[in-house]
Amino acid sequence: MNYYILFGPPGAGKGTQAKLIVEKCNYLHISTGDLLRAEIKNGTQLGKTAAEIINRGDLVPDEIVQGMIRNKIVENQDAKGFLFDGFPRTIAQAQVLDGMLAQFGGKVDAVLSITLDDNLVFERIRHRAEIEGRKDDADPATIRNRIENYHSKTEPLVNYYKGKGNYCEIDGDRPIEEVFNSLIQFIK
Ligand code: ADP
Repeated sequence: MNYYILFGPPGAGKGTQAKLIVEKCNYLHISTGDLLRAEIKNGTQLGKTAAEIINRGDLVPDEIVQGMIRNKIVENQDAKGFLFDGFPRTIAQAQVLDGMLAQFGGKVDAVLSITLDDNLVFERIRHRAEIEGRKDDADPATIRNRIENYHSKTEPLVNYYKGKGNYCEIDGDRPIEEVFNSLIQFIK
């Protein structure tokens, strides 16, 4: 079983690239953002808790997303491989993921990290707000908080994975097709 992580700041293009990777490789795409938005749409208790946190640009508690990921892995043991998008986002989540994959006799094959400067992140999210209408994209203060949370809580994962030797960096400030061609080189 292959396990890949799409990593990067909000708005770096993880969702866009995930769709293209899945078309080519047939891996199961698991986006914690999409899973949380589905909970919100369905009006579940989890969704209600998450909505408030997401709309102010904070991270949902580790236990919640870890539980969602565990369920997906357990339910899809016949998958060809997994592409995680937006997970892990904290060191704690990364450690739990390593433990979970070890239980299934697997490990993270590669972390595909799409890089993008803060000012471009901000511009892209502002633009996406007009197209997709996501509440957490609409307010500049929320976007700034997401960028801050990325630097303080998520970026430390770069060194975590560099230490494991499976970290791959891709410049996200290029056309979609070019980013995709770079990404795909790192996938089996
Ligand atoms: P983006 O990458 O553009 O920020 P996502 O759809 O990945 O969008 O995530 C949207 C929001 O969902 C995040 O800002 C966060 O509040 C929540 N979220 C998604 N994944 C996680 C995670 N792994 N841990 C905690 N919160 C998460």
